[in-house]
Amino acid sequence: MKGKKAAVARALELGGLAWLTRRVGGWQGLLVLNYHRLARSADEVLDRGVWSAEPDTFARQVAWLQRETELLSPEDLPAALEQRGRHTLLTFDDGYADNVALALPILAAAGAKAAFFPVTAWLDEPRVPGWDELAWMVRHRVSDLTALGVEGEDDEAVVLGLLRSWRRLSPEGAEAMLDRVAETTGAGRAPAELARSLFCTWDDVRRLSAAGMTIGGHTHRHVCMATLDAEAQRREIDLCSGRIEAELGQRPTWFSYPYGAADGFTDVTVALLRAQGYRIGCSQFGGWQARGQAEPFNLRRIAIDQPIAPPLWRAAVTWPSLFAR
Ligand SMILES: [Zn+2]
Repeated sequence: MKGKKAAVARALELGGLAWLTRRVGGWQGLLVLNYHRLARSADEVLDRGVWSAEPDTFARQVAWLQRETELLSPEDLPAALEQRGRHTLLTFDDGYADNVALALPILAAAGAKAAFFPVTAWLDEPRVPGWDELAWMVRHRVSDLTALGVEGEDDEAVVLGLLRSWRRLSPEGAEAMLDRVAETTGAGRAPAELARSLFCTWDDVRRLSAAGMTIGGHTHRHVCMATLDAEAQRREIDLCSGRIEAELGQRPTWFSYPYGAADGFTDVTVALLRAQGYRIGCSQFGGWQARGQAEPFNLRRIAIDQPIAPPLWRAAVTWPSLFAR
């Protein structure tokens, strides 16, 4: 959602077509938006790529979706897939604490519902995720970044470059790369106390659930399912389902694939989820499904991340077939 598309969206706004992007286009179907964090990113030392919107921008986005589309509660999704209309759905991945501190009051005030996918191991024992730690190390470097072997005109670009290779590694390989970057940057590993206030507690998740939000699985340790064999995938699903059931009293039926690109999960993942009573699996590509074409275990979402400027957000929700890919 960067580069060319951003330029086109900006040109449309500047070219006097702003009125058009304020009116929803003629699409029919389902558009699922995927957020991570809310708040200002400018002074953030962690990964700015997972900052989705400032709180008042998010409130305006929710109001726009309620006015111009049918903003679904996750519970209403199965029925809505068969109906005509412009349906939208909000989801939040990873369980950052601001989901409860900042997003929940906005959703509650608007009477809107969303699906939340916390990482159960981080609720049990918060840790700084790899993307946040890579960003922290780049920003706290004491040596020249050229030694990293990643080109980039600024820190953001270097972090993105590192993440591109880090995401594809096995859990062991990913950990080894963090050690390597810690040494190369001279920053060392991020201090553990950074994690303490970063993620929700189980009490927070209970508050979300009590407010009518849907709580789904996102694996136990945030691992890319496609990198695991069937037994390891089963263990991840068992662990996260079991912890959610133990803490909330009911088993989750929604799942979000970590790193949910097309190659982030497999037929084995889907079969395991079905066998455990799951009904929905959210991916993180495509973003858009025409009426009657939604696949319950590949519910496509568009990532709403920080570089997404308001014109681009409006273009994506106005012309999803063009922008939500
Ligand atoms: Zn995630």
